[in-house]
Amino acid sequence: MSPTPIERLVFEETASDFYRSVWNTENSRTPRNELPPLKREQYANTPFARRLYRTDNLLAKVAYYNERPFLIGRHLSDIGREEYGDLGNRPLVAFASIHECLEKALWCTTRNILPIIADKDEDITGMLAQRYEVDSIVADSATIEKTATALARHYDTTKTAYVTVVDITFNLPLLIRTFPSTQIHLVLGLPETGGIAYACPVALAGQKIVFHESENYVVDTTTDLTVTRTHMLPTPIINYRPGLTVRFLEKDCSCKGTRAFELASTS
Ligand SMILES: [Zn+2]
Repeated sequence: MSPTPIERLVFEETASDFYRSVWNTENSRTPRNELPPLKREQYANTPFARRLYRTDNLLAKVAYYNERPFLIGRHLSDIGREEYGDLGNRPLVAFASIHECLEKALWCTTRNILPIIADKDEDITGMLAQRYEVDSIVADSATIEKTATALARHYDTTKTAYVTVVDITFNLPLLIRTFPSTQIHLVLGLPETGGIAYACPVALAGQKIVFHESENYVVDTTTDLTVTRTHMLPTPIINYRPGLTVRFLEKDCSCKGTRAFELASTS
């Protein structure tokens, strides 16, 4: 297997030698599967400037590893590639992190839709949802869980056509209970990766969560999930281990999604 375009770009790149230093072995020009993987800890502990391969028109955002912040660079073009599914015309963006809110709001602007951002007070969020006639929600699991009751108190949740949850853990029973007539879309993703995989709609219809790799990712069939973003992020993600244990499923899926796997645990 020859190096992927992203690997070639990184090998030949002069803006940073971060990945070259990660791969600093005598086999550093070998195919991706033979390169040492990059753990989340190593990524988070490397200074932002060392991981940064692009500096034009960036959004710098903050993520956390073991409660310690680290920086990530995103660009409007790669934010626009995220597969958050259908959102209506008036989405509610509800993430615990203001940085995630900003990024998802930027994604909405790439779709020419005008989002509203959740308030830290859930009742105010519920009232905003009602006044703004929110028709879709994009959120993380903790925020949707925290906001569900207040949302239902102020706003008719059956008017929500789409709910997208971007996270590494999912409370499907709560989502189904809160939004019984809503199209639910689950995206497996971390702040530094964006969406790695999405929940199979066929499995989801049977109330089961099975993921397929996103168009933006190549997912290796390793139990310790290892992923490569197929295009260049300002802080690229190559041969990356986000710390998720997964189990790959053998059989083909009728939805035509590739690389079916289930989440075993998070660490
Ligand atoms: Zn499927």
